[in-house]
Amino acid sequence: MKQDLPFTPSRLERCISCGYCLPACPTYALTQEEESSPRGRINLMRAVQIGELSLDQTLEQSSFCLGCRACESVCPAGVEYGTLLEEWRSAAWQGSNRNIIVKLLLFAVNQAWRVRFLGAFNLRNFKKQDQAEYSLMLGCFERGLFPGISKAAQLNLPASVSGNQGCCGALHAHNGELERGKEMAKELGDKLPGKILTTSGGCAAHLASVLGKDRVFEYSQALAAKVDQLKPVMINGKKARVALQDSCHLRHGLQIFNEPRKVLAQIADYVELPGASDCCGAAGTYAILRAKDSNKVFEKKAKEIAKLDLDFIISVNPGCTRQLKTQLKKRKIKTKVLHLAEFVALSNSINA
Ligand code: SF4
Ligand code: SF4
Repeated sequence: MKQDLPFTPSRLERCISCGYCLPACPTYALTQEEESSPRGRINLMRAVQIGELSLDQTLEQSSFCLGCRACESVCPAGVEYGTLLEEWRSAAWQGSNRNIIVKLLLFAVNQAWRVRFLGAFNLRNFKKQDQAEYSLMLGCFERGLFPGISKAAQLNLPASVSGNQGCCGALHAHNGELERGKEMAKELGDKLPGKILTTSGGCAAHLASVLGKDRVFEYSQALAAKVDQLKPVMINGKKARVALQDSCHLRHGLQIFNEPRKVLAQIADYVELPGASDCCGAAGTYAILRAKDSNKVFEKKAKEIAKLDLDFIISVNPGCTRQLKTQLKKRKIKTKVLHLAEFVALSNSINA
């Protein structure tokens, strides 16, 4: 029982302060300051929990954290850092502590009808598939910014599409409205029958945490079982040279990282990006709220991508697609960016 404490006590107690997470943390890499590390942040949470610090005194670190969850994958004690961060922001990012941009974004996706409006003009281009294996989740900002990703996904996997769907609630859960975020995931689960297919790693992790892993399937996970049916993507008579940027929540939240590599290795000349599992700095709203830090986080990745001389860098999350496109363009790096579903659509697809 939480008894109005900001954090679930058992979650906070689990950290043994070993520090194994420090080398995995991108913000600690930027500052080398304990406070900007997972262990340092957990100590801040503990200080808040016992009243030594106010939530206001910890605002900066609650926002500087990317929420990438890389610390979870290396933690020997199984600390659920991502959930602790959601609890932290839900307690601290209230009233005037909530950024106006966050307020506007949450307002925009809070009701299903507003989300439908974002993609109202794109639905007519989908295939009608009544007996499909999956229900395709269209996302909220994805359907506005990158409607082609969902359409490409439907080319290769049998998925019915309903326009009557809202946001999955990940945006709320990660930006100070954890309970509303869970409610929205349940509402979406009620609207989409059977197995839900999503092209967003971040949405997949949030939805699966509420609805269960047996209901939620990320695109690469669903497609990996059918790779033998895919044809290669050729450029000038050679397989396209590609690398993958992992989705943090897909990798660290759902441990899905072999699947997109399996798909790419089948249809392309796949090379491993050295820091593929490192956050690209998109991190949901982070690239908007903390643009300078997001730039710094991307710096090393830009050099690594440029060095590989790729035809494409592939993402499995629309937010990462946007970040890669923006950051590479800014640095005049010519590597093209595609979501995995768009790249697979370039091959002779299964249903073609
Ligand atoms: S979060 Fe995990 S890895 Fe980091 S200090 Fe705590 S127990 Fe160690
Ligand atoms: S979520 Fe990412 S940025 Fe935040 S503490 Fe963990 S590793 Fe560091």
